[in-house]
Amino acid sequence: GGVPNEAMIKPINKSVVHRICSGQVILDLSSAVKELVENSLDAGATSIEISLKDFGEESFKIIDNGCGISPNNFKVLALKHHTSKIADFPDLQSLTTFGFRGEALSSLCALGKLTVETRTKHESVASHLTFDHSGLLTCEKKTARPIGTTVTVEKLFSTLPVRGKEFSRNIRREYGKLVSLLNAYALIAKGVRIVCTNTTGKNTKSVVIKTQGSNSMKDNIITVLGNNIFTCLEPLSISISDSCEVEGFLSKPGQGSGRNLGYKQFFFVNGRPVDMPKVSKLVNELYKTSSSKQYPIMVMNFIVPTRAYDVNVTPDKRKIFFSDEGSLMRSLRESIEKIYSPSHCSYSTNKVE
Ligand code: ADP
Ligand code: MG
Repeated sequence: GGVPNEAMIKPINKSVVHRICSGQVILDLSSAVKELVENSLDAGATSIEISLKDFGEESFKIIDNGCGISPNNFKVLALKHHTSKIADFPDLQSLTTFGFRGEALSSLCALGKLTVETRTKHESVASHLTFDHSGLLTCEKKTARPIGTTVTVEKLFSTLPVRGKEFSRNIRREYGKLVSLLNAYALIAKGVRIVCTNTTGKNTKSVVIKTQGSNSMKDNIITVLGNNIFTCLEPLSISISDSCEVEGFLSKPGQGSGRNLGYKQFFFVNGRPVDMPKVSKLVNELYKTSSSKQYPIMVMNFIVPTRAYDVNVTPDKRKIFFSDEGSLMRSLRESIEKIYSPSHCSYSTNKVE
C-alpha cells in the first residue's frame, strides 16, 4: 500500500541518505577506481598501481607514491564534503585538480569497506587506517610503507543489495569499462607510470596495463594501443579559437578501423578524460568523406582556460559543459574538414597497408 499524503514529513535517517547519495557518485567499478586514480594524480604521484582481485569484484587497491596524507587529516579524511582542494565557490573557476567535492572517499566508505595506508615525507612510519560506513575513522595503527598512499576498497556495493547483485553479475563488463578508462589515463598522463594487475581465484596474477611513465603522448600511444595503430595516426595540433587548442592524434584517411571501436576514441579536457559524444560523432562523420566505411581512432586533448567550462555537471564528472559549445563545434568542424578534405595534400595518399 502507498503512504497517505497526510503522513508526517520527516527527515530520512542520515546514514540512509549517505548511502543513497553515494550510489550516485560511484556508479560502477570504473567510476570508483577513477576517483582513486585521480586522487593519486592530484597527490603528484609518478607511479600508480591498480591491483584488482577477481576483476574488482572482491577488492581493488590503488597504490601511489604521491605526497601522502598528513595525520592531522586522518579523522576528517573520509567525511563527506571534506577536501583539501577547494574551500569556496570561486575556487571552482580556477580548478586545476581532478577532485574538488570531497565525495569519493566518503562515498566509497558508504558502499564498501575502505582502508588507507599512508605516509608523508614528514613521518618515519606509515599509518594504517580503517573507516566505517559513515566515514568515521575506526582504527589507526602503525605500519611500514614508503611515502605515498594505498587505498583499498573491499566488496564494493555490498551495502546496496540490488546494485551489489548486478555488480557481480556484470563484473566482466565493468572490468572492460575500467580497462578502457585506465587506458585513457595511460595515454594522457605524462611522466606517470601506470600499472594495472588482476588476480583471480587461484592467485594467478596477470598484468593488464603497464606503461613506463613516458613524457610523450607518442610513446604512450605505442605502449597502450600498439605500434601498428600508431603508424596509422597523424599528429593533430589545431587552434580552434583564441583560447582553445586541440592536441592529439587522429587516423590518417583510409587507415581507420573497420568497426566502430568506441574504446579507441579518447577525449580529454585539459588532461581530464571525459565523454564527448558530439565531437566523436562530428569527426566520425567528417572522416567518412575520405574513408566511407571506416571510423577514425581519436586521441584529442582540448586545452581551454578553466573558466571556459564546467565539469560539475554530473556526479562522475565525465560530462563537460562548455560556455560556448556552439562556436567551439563550428570551429572544430572547419579545422577537421580541412584535414580530411580530399584536396588537402599532406593527406592525399590513400594507401592501404
Ligand atoms: P577530493 O578529491 O574531491 O578532495 P576525496 O574524497 O577524493 O575528495 O579525497 C579527500 C581528500 O583526501 C583529498 O582532498 C586529499 O586531501 C586526500 N587524499 C585522498 N586520496 C589521496 C591520495 N592518494 N594521496 C594524498 N591525499 C589523498
Ligand atoms: Mg578525489
